[in-house]
Amino acid sequence: MGRVGRGIDAFLTEPREDAVRGRAAWESLADLPVPDEGVGIDALVDELVDVVVPHGTRISDPGFWGFITTGPSTAPVLAAAAASVPSPQRYLLTAFNRIEERSLDMLASLVGLGEHMKGVYSSGGSVANLVALGAARQHAFERAGIDPAADGLGGVRPALYASTEVHHTVQRSAGVLGLGRSCVRAVPTDRAQRADPAAMARMLEQDLRDGRLPVALVGTAGTTNTGAIDPLRAIGELAREHGVWFHVDGAYGLPGILDDRIRDRFDGLDLADSVIVDPHKWLATQVGVAATFVRDRALLYRAFTQEPAEYLEGSFLAPEDAEVSMDSMGIPYADFGVELSSPPRGIQVWAVLREQGVRGVTERIRTDNDRAARVADLARRHPRLESLTEPELSIACLRYRPDGIDPATDGARLDDLNQALLRRLVRETPYVPSATVVNGAYAIRPCFINTRTTDDMVDDFVATVARLGDELAGDRVAAEAAR
Ligand SMILES: *Cc1c(COP(=O)(O)O)cnc(C)c1O
Repeated sequence: MGRVGRGIDAFLTEPREDAVRGRAAWESLADLPVPDEGVGIDALVDELVDVVVPHGTRISDPGFWGFITTGPSTAPVLAAAAASVPSPQRYLLTAFNRIEERSLDMLASLVGLGEHMKGVYSSGGSVANLVALGAARQHAFERAGIDPAADGLGGVRPALYASTEVHHTVQRSAGVLGLGRSCVRAVPTDRAQRADPAAMARMLEQDLRDGRLPVALVGTAGTTNTGAIDPLRAIGELAREHGVWFHVDGAYGLPGILDDRIRDRFDGLDLADSVIVDPHKWLATQVGVAATFVRDRALLYRAFTQEPAEYLEGSFLAPEDAEVSMDSMGIPYADFGVELSSPPRGIQVWAVLREQGVRGVTERIRTDNDRAARVADLARRHPRLESLTEPELSIACLRYRPDGIDPATDGARLDDLNQALLRRLVRETPYVPSATVVNGAYAIRPCFINTRTTDDMVDDFVATVARLGDELAGDRVAAEAAR
């Protein structure tokens, strides 16, 4: 353990070769066949620490700002290792099992959900959305007199409503749940990428006239592209009016509610029937930790129960009758989602909250929001940079725009230039943002969630974008002159 820990430290702190550029060092090991005689634990640890670990990904680097993925801080990594043997599963009456439930309640309260919202962990926003929409499906179909989990969907034609900016795991959930990806209605957004609730209402009412069964209205609290927060109250009230389930996808952005400067943008969250949040994004746990919250876990049970099984029959008592930890499984999380075996995940969330406290976590969130605002500000003040959004959370979208290019007529050239710029950033600098499209324009998109990022890096990043842009634009002018 100690050697592996030091290997991870070295990975983060010492210069290293990129995994592709240095592939000669690990390919020969990775491609070896299974040995007849094992190498033993000491040699295995050597291989891990000396060859495999140094050739990992840049995702945990302080300059990695691509997509919205993860950047585990130290406490949750230690907590996950601490759980791995003492509590490999989340069930049975142990300290870990209690922490699983307490951490869900703590997380709910941290992100502004009422005490009535009860949760279950899963592996990520994808599964968390699936579980939430499974509850929505159960709710909608039961109202139509059908138990979809037990009996299938019958001839019902369902519909879901979400903006064009929604994360595509919502469409996939609809596919997996048998509703069909194509039943997700693409609701248009305004120029700030927020769902248009009036358009949503028109689509819903048309579908009702056509005899469709509305399953859920989805609002995103922090879109993956730009961090936009949908008008939750308007969507929630529309859902109430029609008795339709209201789901909020806060996988990335929900912890943003801790920043009191923008808390009011989450107004309407109290109307949600289900909410998801990914601690492995902005709360810096290891990847594999998401939570789904609903008002009524009995609905999750009806949607996801495995039904009684012989291999468990008679093995357990009710938790209140337990004398020892093996007497009861505890809260039946396995019946609230799609996983039976699962590591305890609450221990990581609990570790972050114990270590940082509400104040520490809040400080991280505010700092990250400040960084996106700073990028936008620096870009606006630079003669050849452009900020393409007003950041709502910790995502900025900018592009380089050389003198003499008119975006209205020469958008494609600007897109090409910025795409080339992104490649050079990723290949030549410590910074790895990703890209998106904002109102039709290609944008370089840093998303700040990594606890190891520094303010100096943020300023240097903007200067680097400008410098690379100048070089690329200069090259192009020279190339055109030579033609
Ligand atoms: C990242 C993200 C997801 C998917 O979460 P994973 O943990 O990557 O499975 C869903 N919704 C939103 C808004 C996201 O940002």
